[in-house]
This record gives sequence, structure tokens and C-alpha cells, in this order.
Amino acid sequence: MLKKDIFEIPAIDHHCHNLLQPKWVDNAAYTTAFTEGNDPEILNYHAHYTLFFRRSLRDIGALLNCDPIEESIIKTRQTLGIEELSQKCFNSANLESIFLDDGFLPDFILPWQWHQQFTLVFRLIRLEYLAENLINTINDFDEFLEQFRQTIESKSSEVIGLKSIAAYRSGLTIEAIPKPTAELRFRQIRQDNTNQKIRLTDKILIDFLLGIALDIAAENKLPIQFHTGFGDRDLDLRFSNPLCLRQLLENPRWKEVPIILLHASYPYTKEAGYLASVYPQVYLDFGLAIPSLSIQGMKRVLKELLELAPTTKILYSSDAHNIPELYYLGAKWGRKLLAEVLEEAVKDGDLGEEEALEIAINILQSNAKRIYPYTENSGQK
Ligand SMILES: [Zn+2]
Repeated sequence: MLKKDIFEIPAIDHHCHNLLQPKWVDNAAYTTAFTEGNDPEILNYHAHYTLFFRRSLRDIGALLNCDPIEESIIKTRQTLGIEELSQKCFNSANLESIFLDDGFLPDFILPWQWHQQFTLVFRLIRLEYLAENLINTINDFDEFLEQFRQTIESKSSEVIGLKSIAAYRSGLTIEAIPKPTAELRFRQIRQDNTNQKIRLTDKILIDFLLGIALDIAAENKLPIQFHTGFGDRDLDLRFSNPLCLRQLLENPRWKEVPIILLHASYPYTKEAGYLASVYPQVYLDFGLAIPSLSIQGMKRVLKELLELAPTTKILYSSDAHNIPELYYLGAKWGRKLLAEVLEEAVKDGDLGEEEALEIAINILQSNAKRIYPYTENSGQK
């Protein structure tokens, strides 16, 4: 029953990214969107042979009504063009709204407003990207901080939350940093990089800025998403374990700030489930893990999240980026496997049928509506 009904529930995709401008998709290997690897040997050879890629060719072939092989798919998507292709993918994904982190590949993506033709669009501010933009143009530390604060506080109606990629840059062991220490570091970084664009990787400055962002989030009840678990090679997986967040989570100043652990923290999924079960402010998400893993892997992730975490803590997302197909694949497998796992829980005796349906609705949309400052009118369409 649930297996059929679940496709009728419009989902809120609370963590995803802008699509790439078509010329950048055409210039890159199609596999780029299907792997976290960026080494040419991975992209040009091995990435063709993951279970995710093999399965996705069949899914996309069926959606686009073409042969399920890479050449036909590439030809068909070019014939359709980006608008028609996206329309097909968004229609099939049945999304009520999307929350875009538009700080990923900012020079290569389509603007967030472009996506409004398909669904309701909100924005997430990527904190490290904001800081990078400011540090490159502002010499004075206090002015830099003021601008950083102002942007986060600006309350543009399309901004619905914050996002941190500290896991990528300096790890999740985020500590309290006194202002003079951060200021010294700021000056040093500016001095060392007079002629080149600064890429912010300094742990002291990142931790300090996150402290400021958390204070603002606490005042304004804004959730912060944290990249946790796997990602591309920039990331040291050891320090993207969500258990590293203990100091932040224990800090009473920030205990009202909803902290959303992205990507099911894969492979630290059970750890994430534990954190959500003991910290009221911790929430979980299974984007990227679904649709990037094998079917068994995706199912296991959902089961591990549901093992211990309250169902009020789990949110749907796709982490779609680059190409619209990922919006579709995330929605298809997210719904299908969520239904299967919940039905198994009914069979086991964990849940009644009505409870299972209610939980599916919570995970696909109601939990996001409760955690974020969400109203249909505040989004931009
Ligand atoms: Zn993401």
C-alpha cells in the first residue's frame, strides 16, 4: 500500500545544489555527476562500473525513453535541452520545494532563480563561501565580521538556513576561539595571499566564524546543515565523523540551533543515529547516500538511521548537483526504499500501517516544515 502511496507525497528536498550551465556538463565526462572521485582514471574508467552508475543508466533510459546506454542518454539529453530535461526530472521527482546551497561550483552553475520555473526555491547560505568572498575584498577584520554578520542576518525571504562545509576544510572538531586569536590569523592570511584568491582552510578562522554563525542562528532560530561523512577527496574522512561535533553540541549557547547532519554521515550512520537520539537539536538526512550507494547499501542506511533515531529527526534530501537527473534518482530511490523499509517495520511489528504512512509524510516533508522557517509564501517561485 505504502509503496504506491508514497509516490503521491510531494517531497521537500532540503539539501541540493544548482544545476550546472549546460556547456560545463557537455565538456565533462557524464560520470562526473555520479562519483565523488575527480581523478581522471576514476572518471574515465572506474566510475562507469559502480552499481550506482549501472543502475542509473537504466533509470534514466526509462525516464527519457531511450536506450539505457551512455551514448544514447547523452544524445537524448542534448536533443531535449536543459529546460525540457529538467522539467521531466522535476515532474517525476514530485517535489514541493528545494533548498539550494548555491555556494558549490559558484562560477559554473545556473542562478538559483532559474530553478523557480520547476518548483518553489529557497536558498541556504554556505558559510565558508561567504567568508571567502569577503576575505578576498576586505582588509579590516571588524568590517569583515560586520559584513559576514549582516549577510547572515539579512533575512532575505528566500534564505531558509545555513550550511557549513567545515568537514571539507578543517574538520568537525569545532572549538571556541577568542576574537584576538582569530583576528591575528585573519591578518596573516591576508598578508600571505596579497595576489591570489584566498581559499579558506584555516581551522582557527573557520571555527571562530562558525561560532558567530551559530550565535546568529540561535537568535533567529535558523537551522545549520553540516556536511558529514563522505565527499570528494578534499575531505579527510576521519574528521567528518559527526562524533567530532561533541563540543559544539554540548555548548549550552547553541542548544536551540537545529543541527542537521547531511549524507546520513555515511559511513558513520549509526553514530549519527545515536547523536539524534540524545541531542534534541540534532537532525539527520540521507541525501547523497541515496542515490549514490547500491540498493542494499541505500536500504541499510535507512535501516541504520531508523534503528535508534526518532522518526521526527529524519529528513529527505537528494544532494542533487550538476545535472537534473540526480533530483529524479534521489526522489525515486528515496521514496521506494523508504516505503520498503517502513513496510518491513510494519511486518516486524515495530509499526502499525497508519504510523508507517505518517512517518513517511514526516520524513518527506513535515519534519522539514517544522525545523526550518518554512512557509509556502516565503519561498520564491
Ligand atoms: Zn551537498
